[in-house]
Amino acid sequence: MNASDNSDNPTIFGRILRGEIPYKKVYEDADVLAFHDINPVAEVHFLLIPKKFIPTLADATMEDTALLGKMLSLVPRLAKEQGLIGGFRTIINTGKLGGQEVYHLHVHVFGRRPGVDSANTALAPFASSM
Ligand code: 5GP
Repeated sequence: MNASDNSDNPTIFGRILRGEIPYKKVYEDADVLAFHDINPVAEVHFLLIPKKFIPTLADATMEDTALLGKMLSLVPRLAKEQGLIGGFRTIINTGKLGGQEVYHLHVHVFGRRPGVDSANTALAPFASSM
């Protein structure tokens, strides 16, 4: 799981990975970075990205199997650490017709923390803004 230096990554997430623009970190290791979405659609909304530059899920290859598995395995742990103990939603938008805006693979993780008013309220079937 070699991380790219992202010098060839023209996206806003490439700029984040190069440390060129600020972000609110959720988690980082040698292979991945997670940070809060700048325009959250829920109380908690963060993005998990590989450090390797993979534009879309459709560009991932069998070589990326371990990396993709690691990312999905991390999601429940990070979600729990962010207080999403009652459940959460994950989305990977892929390509133009899949609603992808930033062409560096990312997993959206979002939801809300249990509270007095919302403890038993699930997210809407599908977030209309996504
Ligand atoms: P997509 O539509 O590509 O699946 O989602 C891209 C996400 O990246 C959007 O939810 C958007 O709010 C988020 N985003 C775009 N630019 C930035 C940025 O500069 N910083 C952060 N933290 N999130 C961003």
